[in-house]
Parts: sequence; structure tokens; C-alpha cells
Amino acid sequence: MLLGMKIAGHDIGVCSWSLGCQSVAELIEALGQLGLEHVQLALGPLLGLEETRRREELQLLAQAKITLTAGMISFPGEDYATLTTIRETGGFVSDEQWEARKQRLGEAARLAGELKMRLLSTHVGFIPPSNQPGYSVMLERVSAAAAMLEAEGVELLMETGQERASELLQFLNDLSVRNVGVNFDPANMLLYGVGDPIEAVGILGRHIRHVHVKDARISERPGVTWGSEVAFGAGQVEPKAFLETLKEIEYRGALTIEREAGPQRMTDIRRAIEVLRNAAGGEG
Ligand code: MG
Repeated sequence: MLLGMKIAGHDIGVCSWSLGCQSVAELIEALGQLGLEHVQLALGPLLGLEETRRREELQLLAQAKITLTAGMISFPGEDYATLTTIRETGGFVSDEQWEARKQRLGEAARLAGELKMRLLSTHVGFIPPSNQPGYSVMLERVSAAAAMLEAEGVELLMETGQERASELLQFLNDLSVRNVGVNFDPANMLLYGVGDPIEAVGILGRHIRHVHVKDARISERPGVTWGSEVAFGAGQVEPKAFLETLKEIEYRGALTIEREAGPQRMTDIRRAIEVLRNAAGGEG
């Protein structure tokens, strides 16, 4: 039997792509093993299926005792090899890729609507400084993306990391659309070298609509080379301060564990749950 889990008042979930599952059946099995029923679902694998198979998978999802906290969409051609490659290839930045990515985002939005998701996260790419011409291009593209999602009743969540929190806040304030928020990932702040994750929570405040539980250590050359992702509790995101700051900004949504590296994902996810529980003082 699947059981929902709460820590410090938050539903505890996991990112589907952290589990390495090849099917909805495997996802359900993995959630059962973890004792979780909340999941942020990568939509790319479902979009990649042939229609009959996709219907079968969607039916299994609908029957499962699972709550989808949000969706996630990424784009073919994004290259995370180095900070330079992802700066060039990530999200909505590339003029060459924009039309194809807009189309994929539209497909993801329709699927999210069908799954009755309210939130869909993505890396929109690096936002240039506001005094550069590329800044207004990104404002236009994120607005266009948000409009497609709004038609499905879905909010677009920008994953944190590429910008300092203050720069992201300015971008959010400069957008004249309502359905754009933040998927806050504390580890990304460290991996990309863009500032202290705990401070960033305070800066982004009410814009934070969904949260990843992930940890990392900054590199010796922050912003030039990647930091390293580690299991939650083993890095530089202080769990207790993280929970307390989320409480201060009155974030009440899910905490969704993400683990993108390492050979023992299930072990690390279980460890993250224990670290959260201890940080919350054993509170359920
Ligand atoms: Mg993340």
C-alpha cells in the first residue's frame, strides 16, 4: 500500500527522472518502495511514446494512488557537459531552437492540462543582464511560453540556478504575466555558482511555487566550472536552515527530492528523507 509522507507540514515527493524508471509501472513500484505517493513527473518520456502506448501509461497513472506535484519538461539538444555548453544550448536562448522548443512546450502543456497538473517546470536558459538586447528576447519568449500554459490552466516554473536570485527576481518583476513562478533548487545555486541558496529563498519568497531537495558543493571556480552534486545532507545546503527559511516565506508546497548523479539513487533518496526528518526535529 502506498502511503503519503509529510515532514514539517510538507508533502514529500521525488522527481520521476531521479528514479531511472522506464515505465509508469516501474515508477509506481519505486514510489511504493520509498513509501511516497507524491511525484514530479518528467513529461518527455510520455511525449516520446507512440499514441496507444501513451494512452496505456496515462491510464496506469490515473489508476495509481499518486499525486503529481508538478510536471517537468526538458529539450533535446541541451548539453550539460560544461557551463559554457549549457549556456549556449539550454532552454529558450537559441534562436535556431526556439520554434521547435516552443512546439514541444505546447505539447507538454496539453499533456499537463490533461493530467490536471497546475505546475510545469523547465530550465528556460540563461537570462542575459537586463542591459543587453537578449534580455527583452527572453522576456518575450517566457511570456509566449506562459501564454501557451495559461490556456491549459498551468503555471510555468523557472528552475533556479542560471542567475543570481536578485537577477531572477528582476526578470520575474519585468514579466507582465501572472502564471510564471519559480521551481527552487538549492543545489543549482551552488552548482552554477550563483550565490547562497538560503539567502536566495528569502529573495525569491512568494515566487517559489515548487521546491527540489538537492544538495551540492561549489566548485573551486564558481560560475566557471560545475560544482558537484552530492546526496542531500552531504553538501553545503544546510537542511535545518533550508526548512526554516521555507517556513519564513510561508512556502507550504511539496518538497520533491531530486538526485541526478551517483550510482545509488534509492539509497540517497531514502537518506534525503531521513535528513529532512532530522532537520525538522523528527516532526511528521
Ligand atoms: Mg532541480
